[in-house]
Amino acid sequence: MKITEKQRAYYHTGETRDISFRVRQLKSLKEALKKYENEMYDAFMVDLNKSESEVYLTELGMVYHEIDTAIRNIRKWSKKTRAKTPLFLFGTSSKIYYEPVGTVLIIVPFNYPVQLAFIPLVGAMMAGNTAIVKLSELTPHVSTVIQKIISKTFDESYVCAMQGEVEVVTQLLEESFDLIFFTGSSRVGKIVMKAASENLTPVILELGGKSPAIITEYANLGQTVESLVWGKFVNAGQTCVAPDYLIIHKSKVSEFERLFRETLLKFYGESPLQAKDYGKIINASHHQRLVRYLSDNDSNIIWGGMYNETKIEPTLIKIDNIDCEIMEDEIFGPILPMILYDSFDEIEKIVSKNPNPLALYLYTYNKEEKDKILNSISFGGGMVNGTIFHLANNNVPFGGIRNSGIGSYHGYDSFTTFSHRKSVMTMKNWSPLKHFYPPYTKKKNKIIRKLLK
Ligand code: NAD
Repeated sequence: MKITEKQRAYYHTGETRDISFRVRQLKSLKEALKKYENEMYDAFMVDLNKSESEVYLTELGMVYHEIDTAIRNIRKWSKKTRAKTPLFLFGTSSKIYYEPVGTVLIIVPFNYPVQLAFIPLVGAMMAGNTAIVKLSELTPHVSTVIQKIISKTFDESYVCAMQGEVEVVTQLLEESFDLIFFTGSSRVGKIVMKAASENLTPVILELGGKSPAIITEYANLGQTVESLVWGKFVNAGQTCVAPDYLIIHKSKVSEFERLFRETLLKFYGESPLQAKDYGKIINASHHQRLVRYLSDNDSNIIWGGMYNETKIEPTLIKIDNIDCEIMEDEIFGPILPMILYDSFDEIEKIVSKNPNPLALYLYTYNKEEKDKILNSISFGGGMVNGTIFHLANNNVPFGGIRNSGIGSYHGYDSFTTFSHRKSVMTMKNWSPLKHFYPPYTKKKNKIIRKLLK
C-alpha cells in the first residue's frame, strides 16, 4: 500500500480529529526534538557550518515556541464559532466548524531545514491532518536527523518524512493531496502549482524574491546598522527574508560604509572566512553562481569580495545601473548591492523592478516617510528599523504576496491554513425564508426587495 493511501486510511479512522490526541502528539514531537538536539547541532555544523546558538535562535527555538503556542490554543481555536446573521436571513443561525483538510504534503527547502519542516508540520498536526514531509536533499545530515525524529515518534500512517532528489517530489506530486505546503524558490513553486492544478489541490507557496532594505536620510544608523548586517549575513545570506539589496540616501553612504565595516569586524573578526559563526554556501553550484556576481562587479566592490572553497566574505557592491544581472534574481548569498538615491520618489521605482518582495526593511525615524512607503509598496511583511525578527512573532501571519508566495502561516494562521472552515446554517421551522420561494407574485417581489435592500 502506498504511503499516501495508508495516511488517507488512517485519517478516515477519525483519530486525528480528537483534540487530546493532537495535544499528545505535539508534546511527543517536542520531547523528541529535545532528545535529538545534540545530533541536530552536529548535523548543522556539517551541512551549513551553523553554530549551536544560531541553530537554537533561528530553528529549534522557533519550533518549540510554535509547538507551545499550538498546545496552549488548540482547544480554543478548534471550537466551532457562531457567526452573525443578517436580518433578511431571520430564522436561521450560522456556525463555522473547523475541520482538518486531510492528508497534506509539506516540501522543505535547504536553508532553514528544521524550522521550515517543523513549523508547517506543527500547523498540520494542530489542525488534525496527516502529513508527508519531503526534506531537502541539500542538507543530508540535518534531513537524516529530522527523518529519525519523525520515524521514531510517529507511525508513518500519521506523519512520515522522506528524503531524496527532485524525482521524489515529482512522484509525490502525481498523487492526490488535500493541501500542498511548499517552501522554496519561485521556479520550483511554479512546477508545484502546475502539478497541483491537475488534481485541483490547493497550494500554499512560501517563496523568496528580492527584499529591499531602505535607508533614508532620516535613519539613525548608529542604532540600527547591526540589525541590517546581521539580517543580511546570518546563514551566509541564505535566508528567504534577508535584505537582498540596499537602497540608501546619498547623504548616508559614508556613515553607512564606516558602520558596516565596524559591525562586520565586531561580528566576524578580521577574517570572516575563518570565523566560527559565519556560515557556508550550501553547494558548489550556488557558490559558483555567487562568485560570478563577484567577478562581474569586481571594480565596484567596496568591501569583502574574497572567498574560499565553501564560503564567501560578506561583500558590499555599489550598483551604478539597476538594469544589471545582480538586480535580476534573488541573490541568496552574502553579497549586498547598494543603490544610491537622491529623491524619495526614486525608491518606489527601484523596488518596482522586482515587485511584491517577501520582506521590506525601512530605516527611518520620519513618520511621513514611513507612512508613504508602508502604504504604497506591496510586500509580504517587514520591519521598520530592523530585519527578520518580524517572522518570530507568531501572533502575526507570515507569508508573501504574488511573486513571493500564496497564503500565510505561523500561530493562528497555521491553524486556519491547515483547516477547512466549514460554514453551516440551521433553519428554524418557522423561518420566513419561505417568502423567497416561487411563484414570484408582485407581493413576494415587494417583500424580497424590502428584505434585501
Ligand atoms: P528549491 O525550490 O530549489 O527546493 C525546494 C524543494 O523543492 C526541495 O525539497 C527540492 O527537493 C524540491 N525541488 C527542487 N527542484 C524541484 C523540481 N524541479 N521539481 C519538484 N521539486 C523540486 O529551493 P531551495 O534552494 O532549497 O531553497 C531556497 C529558496 O527557498 C529561495 O528562493 C528562498 O527564498 C526560498 N525560501 C522561502 C522561504 C519562505 O518562507 N518564503 C523560506 C525559505 C526559503
